[in-house]
Amino acid sequence: MDADRFFRPAIAAIAGYTPGEQPQIPGLIKLNTNESPYPPSPRVQEALTGADWERLNRYPDPLASSVRAAAAALVGGRPEQILACNGSDDSLTILVRSFVDDGGVMACLDPSYSLYPVLAELQGAECRRIALGKDFSFPPDLAALAGNASLLVLCRPNAPTGNVMPLEYVARACRAFAGIVVVDEAYADFAADNCAALVPQYPNLVLTRTLSKGYALAGLRLGYVYADAGLIAGLVKVKDSYNVNTLTQVLGTAALRDQDWLRQTVAKVRATRERVGNALRALGATVAPSQANFLFVRPPAPLAAAAYAQALREERILLRYFPGPRTGEHVRVTMGTEPEMDAFLAASARLFAKP
Ligand SMILES: *Cc1c(COP(=O)(O)O)cnc(C)c1O
Repeated sequence: MDADRFFRPAIAAIAGYTPGEQPQIPGLIKLNTNESPYPPSPRVQEALTGADWERLNRYPDPLASSVRAAAAALVGGRPEQILACNGSDDSLTILVRSFVDDGGVMACLDPSYSLYPVLAELQGAECRRIALGKDFSFPPDLAALAGNASLLVLCRPNAPTGNVMPLEYVARACRAFAGIVVVDEAYADFAADNCAALVPQYPNLVLTRTLSKGYALAGLRLGYVYADAGLIAGLVKVKDSYNVNTLTQVLGTAALRDQDWLRQTVAKVRATRERVGNALRALGATVAPSQANFLFVRPPAPLAAAAYAQALREERILLRYFPGPRTGEHVRVTMGTEPEMDAFLAASARLFAKP
């Protein structure tokens, strides 16, 4: 059957987003989707044990008040400035539906998170891709390049490159660009700083955060938006009525409140990132400076990135490879546990040394 003819043309025309693989193979070293290799805070387990299962007969709190309060305390804002979501992908969907018209224009950097153009296409909008410079540097005249777009989405630290635009660069974009500036802070937990202090200064600035990476809760599905209270009130109209389930609200609140755990875990991931980056450089690879929980790595010639990823895959080490003119020369490597990274480095050393 030709199912496409039933769909809106915008949907029939696109391939859709390709998520990283989630194979269930025992012994696999999974360095392909930027999850945490560590279990989440023990406070999450306590909250799960203490959760009131009988309460599941009722719908959840539509605004996830406990998540809102915990997130507001973290960013230094008010609960009315927080929208809890079913992961950052839900936040981004709500933002695009709210601020990008059918037939409209949204702008993002390239390379960046590959979901952004897909969300624009689903909306029936154009996605204007603004190319990063040499060595993935950020273009100086960003607002001019974004032009008449109604929404500009940035990713800080950027994925899959790992580099970070200066805070002043974001502030300048907020001043010069007439529409909404979204900064996707999925990896901000691993970075030296974040954009939270800019939100009170710029009413068109919207931050998205997630518990999937730093908090080791990719399976829970929780993220939040931080912005002006008026914008949040508008976004509430667009979200699903009960977009964050009851258990996620309970467990996510416990995780957000355990900042000691977050600090300790992030310190481990950062130490791994420095060690692995230095080791790869010593082996001859080119490694972009990263403030995230992954490295963007170009293997030494003559080894091609796709062949490198494939050879590691045969050794049950999974990386993420993005084909394409610029990304295709690199692989993205999530930081795993220390033993996992030792295995990855040993295999890389062997592959780099082959004639
Ligand atoms: C992982 C990731 C997300 C999605 O996070 P979820 O909360 O798991 O949906 C959003 N943006 C970027 C840049 C990411 O890498």
